[in-house]
Amino acid sequence: MALPKTIRAQVGIVGAGPAGLLLAHLLHLEGVESVVIEAQSRKHVEERVRAGVLEQGTVDLLNAAGVGERMRREGLVHYGIELCFDRRGHRIDLHSLTGGRAITVYAQHEVVKDLFQARMSYGGPILFEVESVRIEGFDGDAPRIRFRSYGDECEIPCDYIAGCDGFHGVCRPSIPSGILRFYEKTYPFGWLGILAEAKPASDELIYANHEDGFALLSMRTPRISRLYLQCRPDEDLSEWPDPRIWEELQRRFETVDGFRLNEGPVFQKGVTAMRSFVAEPMQCGRLFLAGDAAHIVPPTGAKGLNLAVADVRMLAHALACRYRTGTEQMLNRYSEICLRRVWRAQHFSWWMTSMLHRFEGCDGFDHRRQLAELNQVTSLRAAAVVLAENYTGLPFDLPGERL
Ligand SMILES: Cc1cc2nc3c(=O)[nH]c(=O)nc-3n(C[C@H](O)[C@H](O)[C@H](O)COP(=O)(O)OP(=O)(O)OC[C@H]3O[C@@H](n4cnc5c(N)ncnc54)[C@H](O)[C@@H]3O)c2cc1C
Repeated sequence: MALPKTIRAQVGIVGAGPAGLLLAHLLHLEGVESVVIEAQSRKHVEERVRAGVLEQGTVDLLNAAGVGERMRREGLVHYGIELCFDRRGHRIDLHSLTGGRAITVYAQHEVVKDLFQARMSYGGPILFEVESVRIEGFDGDAPRIRFRSYGDECEIPCDYIAGCDGFHGVCRPSIPSGILRFYEKTYPFGWLGILAEAKPASDELIYANHEDGFALLSMRTPRISRLYLQCRPDEDLSEWPDPRIWEELQRRFETVDGFRLNEGPVFQKGVTAMRSFVAEPMQCGRLFLAGDAAHIVPPTGAKGLNLAVADVRMLAHALACRYRTGTEQMLNRYSEICLRRVWRAQHFSWWMTSMLHRFEGCDGFDHRRQLAELNQVTSLRAAAVVLAENYTGLPFDLPGERL
């Protein structure tokens, strides 16, 4: 039998989403070699439409890592968001409430393209369309990743494995049972999302609480709107022709002063389930989980991509410390430090979701309680500061997280 092709690396990274690619890039800047493997094609990963809101800390990190040039040119910097309820819009001034922070609207797949570009510029290895991925030996001192690549059996012997393979990947399920604890919450609704060739009707994002359900106005570019409306988790898209979507969106964003969305051709449509999930700890021996492989948040707080970035920033730092000093002190704190931020983001995402959506069986009392909470957030500065600080992103050095 032919011997497997061997590609030696210090760190083997499974998954070329934002977590895996940014980790590879940060490690490269620290002089640590890695190999990335990805189950899909490069085209598929570059075209996958997902997140779009980058926290200030994410933007600062991408800039510091030298991959922010296009984001600075094409990203849309927003200094506020709007909460719409009782048919009135109320602006949350993120900039003044946080002492100068903002968010940047720049699509996740554009971040991914920039990271691919950077990796290619120094010839960092990425293997696409790999199959039958298995990870082994991470509970000892000889971890390895095995897979098939265009018919060849391959293996990556490495010092450490980073499981950046998303929620449905192989790394988390490879950890023997009894080691991880799972915390999960599934929401009884989903989001029907569209991309439309239509100038966004607002310069800033609008989160709408309507008695028939939540809606969100976001954007990708000055000419492309990204719109969502709350729907059933198993909503059948064939029941939603474009005119019905626009009619429902217009109703949910309606205000007393006559706000109207700009309509245009819809070129992408999908339903996203809403769930919260955390696996603890985020480490097993020499395997480290990062991003969606370890946790999922409902998209209401726009935290998923940003949490993935925070995880790999910590992991890159801890691995660099390990190669510089020979000690695993920082690596051993990886899970504990990341989980603090993960649970803060889980709380914020749950809070935003609870305040803005219509829940099954939600009666007049519940709706009025939500309106009271929204009134507080938009009229009491202390409450608005809590929203703004969390939305623009907590600083990287949370207590206990100082690097
Ligand atoms: C509709 C939607 C809207 C969202 N909006 C926001 C937002 O506004 N802000 C925000 O911060 N987050 C948002 N998110 C969440 C965000 O997209 C994710 O949190 C983010 O993609 C996590 O990145 P990741 O690299 O951890 O995982 P992924 O992006 O899932 O990447 C994992 C990679 O691993 C690959 N892979 C899987 N299995 C294997 C295997 N066996 N071998 C090799 N490779 C494998 C996958 O193909 C994939 O490329 C949104 C998500 C959705 C679905």
